[in-house]
Amino acid sequence: MTDPLEYEVAVVGGGPAGLTTALYTTRLGHRTVLFEKEGGRHAMVSHVHNMPGVSEDVSGQELAAHAVAQLEHYGGDFYPDAVESVSRLDDGGDERTTDADSDPRFRLESTHATIDADRVVFATGFRDRSPEVSELERFTGRGLHYCLHCDAYTLGDGPVFVLGHTESAAHVAMTMCNFTADVDLLLNDREPEWDEDTDAQLDAHPVDRIDTAVVSAYDDESIDADEPPWLGGFAFADGTERDYLGGFAMYGSAYNADLAAALGCELGDDGALEVDEDRETSVDGVYAVGDVTHGQNQTTIAIGDGAYAGLAIHKDLRTFPKSLDELEETEDGDDFPALDVPGSPPDLRAQMRRVRELETHPGLRGPSPGRE
Ligand SMILES: Cc1cc2nc3c(=O)[nH]c(=O)nc-3n(C[C@H](O)[C@H](O)[C@H](O)COP(=O)(O)OP(=O)(O)OC[C@H]3O[C@@H](n4cnc5c(N)ncnc54)[C@H](O)[C@@H]3O)c2cc1C
Repeated sequence: MTDPLEYEVAVVGGGPAGLTTALYTTRLGHRTVLFEKEGGRHAMVSHVHNMPGVSEDVSGQELAAHAVAQLEHYGGDFYPDAVESVSRLDDGGDERTTDADSDPRFRLESTHATIDADRVVFATGFRDRSPEVSELERFTGRGLHYCLHCDAYTLGDGPVFVLGHTESAAHVAMTMCNFTADVDLLLNDREPEWDEDTDAQLDAHPVDRIDTAVVSAYDDESIDADEPPWLGGFAFADGTERDYLGGFAMYGSAYNADLAAALGCELGDDGALEVDEDRETSVDGVYAVGDVTHGQNQTTIAIGDGAYAGLAIHKDLRTFPKSLDELEETEDGDDFPALDVPGSPPDLRAQMRRVRELETHPGLRGPSPGRE
């Protein structure tokens, strides 16, 4: 085997969270690699909402593609590759260890590469569980939604459905009453799992419960054939059909946390990764950002998480400033010895110079307001 490539920071997952961490650590001078296997929730976003200054014509994939170009522009490495295992090494050596006192060092094996890194960031997201309804999935983002904060605005004049039988389905159905007076809660032939209080609460809201199984989804016929299809409604097992403007499927999340769990990172009851305010997990040197960590599943929040982790990793890895304790350790007599300040490595310095001399940088562009 050839020697693994050496990095300071390895990010697993190229959605908004991971791309932000990688951009920060790269621009803060740390040799960074990001692995992205293709997929994720950002790839399902046809129109990005709630991103200040970004047009809603932009899709999640476009946003990510521009961010990859930015990352590479500043010298970060992008591997379109799935990480298959992450293990802890001893102090940069080859033997696996569980010695918690040694400096953390990790080995990542992907489908086509093996690399070692000082810090690992999981930005692996989760998968929305969806009901098995024939033809439904093709309407994702076009009548079938998973994010109330992103898409309720577009469904304001209903009729709207919420598919599900859990507490969160009942909660979203009642919340949709803020937007429309026409809300159906589709139990899809399942027994409700919410408690008595929620049941009483739900009864008091103008939400229609529909028990019967949902058999299939059909197109909105009013959409032109050359336009992407939009969900028109559902056919039910009792032979009825109902038209909807759109709605939400609430079947929970399957967190992509297996690699982190295998390293010993703590998970919450729902399977999300537990992190502190720096987005560090319970394992030293291992961070987690974005949807894989919590229930606030939004692009902007994933980006914020990514920035927190990037800054925390920089503070953790950087050489300067040295603390008085570190300086005193090497003190000889009254004066501190002169510090050896190597600056950035030559290849990074050259990259910084190249970027400085350019007049343009990659990133999402569109006409500015008022521009001809
Ligand atoms: C249909 C839909 C519409 C949405 N609309 C909006 C919206 O308008 N506005 C908004 O703010 N939010 C929206 N969201 C939510 C938003 O997409 C997420 O909150 C955001 O993408 C989370 O970013 P992330 O980086 O944490 O995770 P993700 O975007 O899910 O990215 C995780 C990445 O990790 C990669 N990965 C996983 N495992 C591995 C591995 N082993 N090796 C390599 N790569 C791996 C995946 O391929 C994926 O690209 C929407 C979500 C959906 C599903």
